[in-house]
Amino acid sequence: MSKREIPGLVPRLVPLGTTVFAHYSAIAVETGAINLGQGFPDTDGPSWIADAVTRAMAEGRGNQYPAGAGVVELRKAVAAHQKRWYGIENDFATEVLITAGATEALTAALIGLVDTDDEVIVFEPFYDSYRAAVVMARGKLVAITMEAPDYTLDIDELRKAITPRTKVIVVNTPHNPSGAVTSRAELQAVADLAIEHNLVVISDEVYEHMAFEGEHVSISTLAGMRERTLTISSAGKLFSYTGWKIGWITGPKQLVDAARTVKQFLTYVVGGPFQYALAEALDNGDQWLAELRTSLMHSRDHFTSGLKSLGFEVHQPKGTYFATVDVRSKGFATADEFCQTIPKKIGVVAIPSHVFYEHPERGAAYARFAFCKKDAVLDAALERLAQL
Ligand code: PMP
Ligand code: GLN
Repeated sequence: MSKREIPGLVPRLVPLGTTVFAHYSAIAVETGAINLGQGFPDTDGPSWIADAVTRAMAEGRGNQYPAGAGVVELRKAVAAHQKRWYGIENDFATEVLITAGATEALTAALIGLVDTDDEVIVFEPFYDSYRAAVVMARGKLVAITMEAPDYTLDIDELRKAITPRTKVIVVNTPHNPSGAVTSRAELQAVADLAIEHNLVVISDEVYEHMAFEGEHVSISTLAGMRERTLTISSAGKLFSYTGWKIGWITGPKQLVDAARTVKQFLTYVVGGPFQYALAEALDNGDQWLAELRTSLMHSRDHFTSGLKSLGFEVHQPKGTYFATVDVRSKGFATADEFCQTIPKKIGVVAIPSHVFYEHPERGAAYARFAFCKKDAVLDAALERLAQL
């Protein structure tokens, strides 16, 4: 303890530490390595969307606090998107909430819904903020393992995990980090249990337009789920502007209210001009979403076939922009060792997947690469990986 620390004062949340994404991106900067760790595209989204931001600013739209739930144009565009893609009706006035990225959407929803010692069921591996949000809410995280290489949902384990204290099930499809696209049958089984036990489902669909194989099913479209599901997505992923941090939640008023109550005291509002621009993006961007999907599918095929030809065992992703490898296929005992070694040794950064597990030993052999990068960057990374 340094002299400046107050004895006995150990803030409860400090042990959550620094996110692994920040940690590995810092290593990439320090070493000059190619960063295939943190998931962000190296090509920005279309310039017409960025131009719409500067236009909004110049016209004085969104430069002062926008409406608490988000600007009306964006809430209407989100509702129209949900209707157009999934046939779900949402009242923009009460059933859509704009947030600071999907991260705030998840955190606000979980804090809003979870009381002390309530149980939240997640499927591991899972995006790191789920755990942090449950800890903030003083809830209890219960993790069910999705087994590699298929990462399907273990419905028997889910059934066994449900207790009288269970309140929420979190699903994420297409899935980070595995790239799995959860099938309609799996989601139906989750829905059946959620309805039987009167649970809320939080559905993280930030990669909704990046399913390459199998259809993307939004669980709220299944019978009886509309009234118990909060669906979350993010413009960062949809339109390749991860730095803008605009996300949204849709769902029944009562559940959206729970998230909104928390959200208004976390950030109140976020990114006024960005919201106007993203309303235009959602209304006019379906063609771009299709092009992004095709281009990412190409990147996936290019990168994973490259990895396989180098002798990596790859868990072939069906969606998202992540690919997982089993590092034992290259003679490493753990992905931790692999990911600590390769930035300095060959100049490539990947993320050890154990950080996405509540039972880290179950993911110890796996590492995640982000392939949302230009071909030349992926080729350079493959050349370097060939030196292993
Ligand atoms: N959920 C998942 C599964 C993610 O991969 C991410 C990272 N983009 C988020 C949520 C958070 O998204 P945002 O950057 O919009 O906060
Ligand atoms: N979603 C991104 C990933 O999984 C990173 C988000 C973040 O840095 N918090 O890599």
